Amino acid sequence: MEKEKLQTAVPLILKWYGIFKRELPWRGTHDPYRILVSEIMLQQTRVEAVKDYYLRFLERFPTAFELAAASEEEVLKAWEGLGYYTRARNLHRAAKIIAENGFPRDFEGVRSLPGVGDYTAGAICSIAFDLPCPAVDGNVLRILTRLFADGRNADDLRLRQEYSKRLKEVYPEEAGDFCQALMELGAIVCLPNGDPMCKICPWKELCEAHLLSKETCFPVKLPKRERKIVKLNVYVLIYGDEYAISKREKKGLLSGLYELPNFEGETPDFGKILRTKQAKHIFTHMEWHMTGYLVEAREKAPAFFWASADEIREKYALPSAFKAFKEWLT
Ligand code: SF4
Repeated sequence: MEKEKLQTAVPLILKWYGIFKRELPWRGTHDPYRILVSEIMLQQTRVEAVKDYYLRFLERFPTAFELAAASEEEVLKAWEGLGYYTRARNLHRAAKIIAENGFPRDFEGVRSLPGVGDYTAGAICSIAFDLPCPAVDGNVLRILTRLFADGRNADDLRLRQEYSKRLKEVYPEEAGDFCQALMELGAIVCLPNGDPMCKICPWKELCEAHLLSKETCFPVKLPKRERKIVKLNVYVLIYGDEYAISKREKKGLLSGLYELPNFEGETPDFGKILRTKQAKHIFTHMEWHMTGYLVEAREKAPAFFWASADEIREKYALPSAFKAFKEWLT
């Protein structure tokens, strides 16, 4: 019964996708490297934010060979502002493996690349190689739990695995289109929270949640844990025409990236305060509530690395957590 429902759903969503899919820069390619770049960028980042980065990144690193040959600093600079920098490091490592051995052609091989999980491997294999490898992310899980009015806990990884298996049984020959159609329906029609647009959905006659008028009850999620709040004092220290930056530790949040000097709690007296400003940055599990100080430094403290504003702009990747204070780097 459930398999029949999915079998009926497949041609409906494929037809809909053929007509209504969005034009996106990564659509229409079967180049696995390009698909890898887009999928890694799209992890935890919105489509609109990714578009320009994707085009610029591929202009700079059009194949895995150029990316493999670049330094980590260059790769992080090209990624600057996109966040979750571990993705950039993993992509760089993956490019080195691909440049040496070629792009893997099966699910296990793709899954073994750094930074590639089940979902990303499924998406690459479906889109690049038309293999029947389902890719179940939050969007896809949402449309499927609604299709079946499935009230089980959507945070349970086993549910994704189960839907993955069920999808595999009905995967059509147009694997790439099917994979993207599922993502697209979740992204532009079966929206989260209170806004699924059931009237224009190709599944409205089939969808159990819609037939029960209970679209927004699914997926069922446990309440999120509250984010930890960290209060930070952030300093833009000027000495002559140079600014202080430092490199974060290799482990943990924003590891190995450059940063503006920042302190929790009591902070040193660096010199004359010229301006102050409040800003907030939200990470997955943490919020930084920052007070920024523009300071004319009394001395060129050796604890920091000093660089001109142009050098910082061109060479050193400052994470977007510090975006609010970049306007002081003039
Ligand atoms: S009918 Fe509504 S709830 Fe069901 S899949 Fe379509 S948009 Fe989502």
